[in-house]
Amino acid sequence: MAIDRLNDRVALITGAGSGIGRASALRMASEGAAVMCADLNVEGAQTTAAQIAEHGGRSATMELDVTSEDAVKDALAQTVAVLGGLDVIFNNAGIGGAAYTWDQTIDVNLTGVYYGTYHGAAALVERGGGAIINTASIAGLNGLVSSASTRDPNLPVEPGAGAYVAAKHGVVGITRQFAVTYGPRNVRVNAICPGYIHTPMTAGIREMDGAEEFLAGLHPMGRLGQPEEIAAAAAFLASDDASFVNGVALPVDGGYTAR
Ligand code: NAP
Repeated sequence: MAIDRLNDRVALITGAGSGIGRASALRMASEGAAVMCADLNVEGAQTTAAQIAEHGGRSATMELDVTSEDAVKDALAQTVAVLGGLDVIFNNAGIGGAAYTWDQTIDVNLTGVYYGTYHGAAALVERGGGAIINTASIAGLNGLVSSASTRDPNLPVEPGAGAYVAAKHGVVGITRQFAVTYGPRNVRVNAICPGYIHTPMTAGIREMDGAEEFLAGLHPMGRLGQPEEIAAAAAFLASDDASFVNGVALPVDGGYTAR
C-alpha cells in the first residue's frame, strides 16, 4: 500500500545529492512531497531529481552552500517560488572525517544547520507552520571511539579532533532550543541521530582494514545502517504521524547509544 502522508507538502532537503539526503528526498517524494534537492554537489542533486522523476515524483534542484547565510535564505525563498510552498526543512548537509579542520566542520555541520533552523523556522511561521528536521548523529549524544587516534594512543591527534562531536552536540542543542521557541508557533523541530550508515561519507573509514567489522560491532544489531533507514525516520518526523513529537534527538542507530 502506498503511503501518501506528505501529499501537497513541499520539502527543502540539504545534502540531497548523496547518501542520507538522497534517500530522504526519494522517500519523501514517494510519500507525495515535492522536494527541493539542494546540495553543494549540484550534479548529485540532479541525479536525485532524475530518480524522483523516474518514480513519477516532483522535485527541483539548486546549488547550495549551507555555510552562506544569504544562500540559505535564498534557498528557502527559491523553494517557495519554484515548488509553490514550504512545509518541511531537512537540514542534513554535513561533512565528516579527519581531513577537515575544526573551522570547516563547525561551519558546515553546526553553523549551516543553525542558518537553516533560524531562518527556516521564521519562514515556516510565515506559512502557518511546518516541520524542521536536523541531522545530528550518535556523535551528538556520545563521544566517538572510531577515529584512528582514539583507537591507537600512539597516533597523533588530528587537528580537527572533537569538531564533529562538538558540532553534532550543538545540533541537538539548537534543535531543543528552537523546539521550545517555535512549538507555540506550530513549528516542530526534531533531530535524527544516525549510527554509522553506508554512505559515501563513511566509505573511507569502512575501507580501512578491519574497520567495517569494528564499526558493526559498536552497534548491538551487529551491522551498519542503510540511508533508507534514516530516510524512514525523516519522513515520519516530517509527517502528521509525528504531530506531537517536538524537540527530540531520535537515535536511529541499531542500539549504539543504548549502552
Ligand atoms: P554524504 O553522502 O557525504 O552526503 C552529504 C552531502 O552534503 C554531499 O552531497 C555533500 O556534497 C553535501 N555537502 C557538503 N558540504 C555542504 C555544504 N557546505 N552545503 C551543502 N551541501 C554540502 O554524507 P551522509 O552520510 O549522507 O551524511 C548526511 C548527514 O548525516 C551529515 O550531516 C552527516 O554528518 C550525518 N551523519 C552521517 C552518518 C553516516 O554514518 N553516514 C552518521 C551520522 C550522521 P560533497 O559531496 O560535494 O561534499
